[in-house]
Amino acid sequence: MDLKLYTLDRKIGIIGGGQLGKMILDETNKMGLSLSILDPSSESPCCKLSSNFVKGDFNDYDTVTNFGEKHDLISYEIEHINIDALDALVKKGIEVQPSPEILRIIQDKNLQKTFFKKNNFPTSNFTFFKSKKEFINSFKKKNLDFPCVWKKTRYGYDGFGVKVLKSMNDLSELIDSEMIIEDFVPFTKELSVIVAMNKNGDLKAFETVEMEFNSNSNQVEFVISPANISEKTNLNAKKMACDLAKKLNLVGLLAVEMFLTNDGEILINEIAPRPHNSGHFSIDACPTSQFKQHINSIMNLNLGETSHKGCAIMINLVGEKSSNGRVKYENIDLIRNQKGVFIHLYGKKITRPNRKMGHVTVICDNFTTAYKKAKKIKDIIKVKSY
Ligand code: ADP
Repeated sequence: MDLKLYTLDRKIGIIGGGQLGKMILDETNKMGLSLSILDPSSESPCCKLSSNFVKGDFNDYDTVTNFGEKHDLISYEIEHINIDALDALVKKGIEVQPSPEILRIIQDKNLQKTFFKKNNFPTSNFTFFKSKKEFINSFKKKNLDFPCVWKKTRYGYDGFGVKVLKSMNDLSELIDSEMIIEDFVPFTKELSVIVAMNKNGDLKAFETVEMEFNSNSNQVEFVISPANISEKTNLNAKKMACDLAKKLNLVGLLAVEMFLTNDGEILINEIAPRPHNSGHFSIDACPTSQFKQHINSIMNLNLGETSHKGCAIMINLVGEKSSNGRVKYENIDLIRNQKGVFIHLYGKKITRPNRKMGHVTVICDNFTTAYKKAKKIKDIIKVKSY
């Protein structure tokens, strides 16, 4: 589409009404677009913000097709959607971006890893098992070594459904499901690149970022942009993300999570065809945010500039361990008016341990100052219940 011909006529629907949907709406509101949202919860961040909020289960075939049929273009901000319903919508001539084919690969960690291997993208070795019994039988025959990583093939998120197995004792705790067992990667850093591609084939990557995890919850605590890596590694990581986008015939956004090893090798961990937590810094740091770029790419508009000066660090605000109930944000007033500090609260009324409730981005001239400030913010802002 040419921006000169930009109209508000296209009916766009987004499946999923969480914080990612909310930040997509923040962007489309600026363009005068009104998006419909499908989400099962009337407490979801998008519920009060969308002019057409539809309450419904996105794993239900009829709900997804009924929602989709009323639109010209469907996109999504979550991955666990009824894929047959998306296929049916495409058959009826409704555009679904990124394509259901991509989502089908991503929904299943076995298909995803097989795709990486088949197309020669570097990733750790893995074996697929149909059940816990099959895995344990194979283990008894000494086909596997500790440590290794157990992953449920489907419906895992934010580290739930992933477990590092260190000894026999860890096997008893595993649930029975299809799984992959991966080689443990002794990585030095976890990196991410977000790349966008539109129908014209224009391709643009954000700079490689570094994700720092909380050692207890195993959730991302800080996202640092740019990553503290060599320019060679940055370029390699960006190239890998662009190659993946091309191989997948992507239209939309793709987040590519990677491991950097001691000897400078990059291994792809997993990919997500949607805006991603590792790209939130771009709202305040970059001329084009990941949410704007997502809209640009699915609407076939020109892709925007993604580089930024200085250092941006995104801090996830998650519910405190013992807090369950109506949320209060402690000490927000202390940072609210600080220069270079940008607060984003998701509007979720109820907090739970480790639930993502908001984020803060700090932007400074250099990494050292930004990191110091980010650590302080993490220490003083507490997401609690009352
Ligand atoms: P999810 O889909 O739940 O986010 P991931 O595959 O990203 O699951 O795994 C969650 C975390 O577990 C990763 O961010 C990383 O810290 C760790 N991890 C995953 N796979 C491996 C591996 N092969 N070797 C070492 N650590 C891993």
